[in-house]
Amino acid sequence: MILPDATLGVLGGGQLGRMFTLAAHSMGYRVVVLDPDPHSPAGLVADQHIKADYRDHAALQLFGEECAAITTEFENISADSLEYLEKFCPVRPAPAAVRIAQDRIREKTFAREHGLDTTAFVAIYEASDIEESFGELNPPLLMKTASMGYDGKGQIQVDSLDAAVAAFEQLGGTPCILEELVELELEISVILARSNSGQTAVYPVAENRHANGILDTTIVPARIAPAVAEAATEMALQLASAMEYCGVLGVEFFYTRQGELLINEMAPRPHNSGHFTVDACATSQFEQQVRVMCGLLPGDPQLLSPVVMVNLMGDIWNNGDPAWEAILNEPQAHLHLYGKHEPRHGRKMGHVNCLASDVDTALDIAATLRTALTA
Ligand code: AMP
Repeated sequence: MILPDATLGVLGGGQLGRMFTLAAHSMGYRVVVLDPDPHSPAGLVADQHIKADYRDHAALQLFGEECAAITTEFENISADSLEYLEKFCPVRPAPAAVRIAQDRIREKTFAREHGLDTTAFVAIYEASDIEESFGELNPPLLMKTASMGYDGKGQIQVDSLDAAVAAFEQLGGTPCILEELVELELEISVILARSNSGQTAVYPVAENRHANGILDTTIVPARIAPAVAEAATEMALQLASAMEYCGVLGVEFFYTRQGELLINEMAPRPHNSGHFTVDACATSQFEQQVRVMCGLLPGDPQLLSPVVMVNLMGDIWNNGDPAWEAILNEPQAHLHLYGKHEPRHGRKMGHVNCLASDVDTALDIAATLRTALTA
């Protein structure tokens, strides 16, 4: 067990690392962040910020020797770096789990091997793979890079063999998956925490709305039949258990118009669709990350109030600073800003959690705030 005031490490200094750091601080831990960006949101609030490349072994050694345990806040970190860090202290989640989650081919193959449904897909390593396997799928299809893609980046819709070959080239000829586009009824996610010894805490299923491939709104509880929520929860737990996972895991699902529940992808860390937990649950997903990396039991995941989370993107700065007073004057809204200086198009700058006695009221509050912010 790692107790306050031990030092915890987080690889990556984005908003997830920042919220991890804030949770760890409030529990009495010190935090070291490793991120090359001198302005990283987590680096700004951590006790120490090591500004180095994620593959810099000298910096990783310094980091590893400083920390009682290390976690990660984004998966596009070489699993080799995580393995190297294991020489110095426990790394949670383990590099093997991050290795699966950071690659779409590995994660979908792993899910299927464990009897969990995904979209129909084929792995593409070279152009000849497209010719061989195109006929196995029913267009329209999506070509997605196997790794380093996020928020809808690195994916192209294709309807023909020629278009698929062109898309593969456009994506740089790196390994890809070619998958069937499904007709979405809803997108949902399950966030859970799992301790080293297998105790789990699962949050209620979240309903997610995307805009341009990026999460826009999360609604909790999701407006789905209890049987669908139970099935998604069970699938996420099975995935975590199959990986002998230790950490916070976010699992995204497609719920199709045909009533299928398909795993889309998983994140080996707290997830944007779990930000509602910070204001609406007994224990936030970031406190869970601290707890389980420290060898403690996960906290109570109970939902204390229906909630709607809205991401605040750089676009709302288009006509100057947003009217923050709109959110701050709303007693049922909770503003979270990440300390990023440059508001760019499509960049996540913060989020707001709207709590109410039911999701319809929370949605109304969110809609009013959205309009007022840029009015
Ligand atoms: P991803 O990066 O795979 O999570 O994709 C980003 C978003 O694009 C998803 O949340 C969906 O809204 C949409 N999307 C991705 N793959 C598919 C698919 N196979 N069928 C339908 N929509 C998809």
